[in-house]
Amino acid sequence: TEALVNSVHRILTHADSRRRLDVRTNADTPEDSARARRFGAHGIGLCRTEHMFLGDRRQLVEKLILAEGDDDRQAALDGLAPLQKQDFVEIFEAMDGLPVTVRLLDPPLHEFLPDLTDLSVRVAVAEAEGHPDEANLRLLAAVRRLHEQNPMLGLRGVRLGLVVPGLFAMQVRAIVEAACERKKAGGDPRPEIMIPLVGAVQELEAIREETEQVIASVCEEHGAEIRPLIGTMIEVPRAALTAAEIAHSAEFFSFGTNDLTQMTWGFSRDDVEAAFFHAYLDKGIFGISPFESLDLDGVGRLVRVAAREGREARPELKLGICGEHGGDPESVHFFHEVGLDYVSCSPFRVPVARLEAGRAALGAESVGS
Ligand code: PEP
Ligand code: MG
Repeated sequence: TEALVNSVHRILTHADSRRRLDVRTNADTPEDSARARRFGAHGIGLCRTEHMFLGDRRQLVEKLILAEGDDDRQAALDGLAPLQKQDFVEIFEAMDGLPVTVRLLDPPLHEFLPDLTDLSVRVAVAEAEGHPDEANLRLLAAVRRLHEQNPMLGLRGVRLGLVVPGLFAMQVRAIVEAACERKKAGGDPRPEIMIPLVGAVQELEAIREETEQVIASVCEEHGAEIRPLIGTMIEVPRAALTAAEIAHSAEFFSFGTNDLTQMTWGFSRDDVEAAFFHAYLDKGIFGISPFESLDLDGVGRLVRVAAREGREARPELKLGICGEHGGDPESVHFFHEVGLDYVSCSPFRVPVARLEAGRAALGAESVGS
């Protein structure tokens, strides 16, 4: 095994010396960050902050959902702020000296709301027993109010940032405070801030302005200088088609090919594979799920157009991809060819992405083909 490990190491080192694509990782815990770094990841391309709002923090999220008025909402955000900050302190430590792209909150709402049936039953039981449960009644009303038929196309990402005052500002403050403190302690934090689900430059501009204000005031309070790049996911077809305008407000694009595939084909990411993909595969409509290997003619074309037009508008625009395709061998060759700067994939796929990025630079076919 030692000989095998050594030869894999040699091959990957050779690939690293040739590749033009950087390889980052998708990670939102310090453990995953450290693991990916050992696998050779050069930073984080996607830190999904919604994962930080689950578990025992759900109660604080419920408080936010239930908030009536500014004071209530601010109290809920104040409860979440120190926990968010601690998350980033640990991730910046694990990725010291390397870029960490933190994506602001992008949950499909249903993942956070308590289950409607469950809650209705609890309320009904309490009522039947003659002691109505006021807290759950209020929660039930809020859940009904927020219920969506298509949560994946609903109140997510930038839309949430625009309708919940203070939410994104709380996250940006946590990122920049964590970075300022680390820098003052001699570290080298390199945060980048990413806005999800943008479809129009106006959405990005509104959030960008707020973000820049928060960065400036935190830096002043801490007497430290942190200048995170501010960029956007390109995962809504309209964003790809208006890339030139969006590039005026974005220092980087990161292609979210999971949502871009969903919205370009009109397939639901959550349902479709079980529902009818086998028929599509049987009938040869495609040979492999477009969620696994990038659909070059449709989704790929959008990536190509957005990369080209974005760079024409802003030549120094940084380009990456953080959908699942970032670790898929054939897709990596395409991203190399389109001229992206980096791919970002789950920690265990980092070595494969390094290898394929090297092979792409050498003009070799992908391992998978
Ligand atoms: C994507 O849509 O490709 C993406 C990376 O974001 P998420 O999977 O979290 O929606
Ligand atoms: Mg997405």
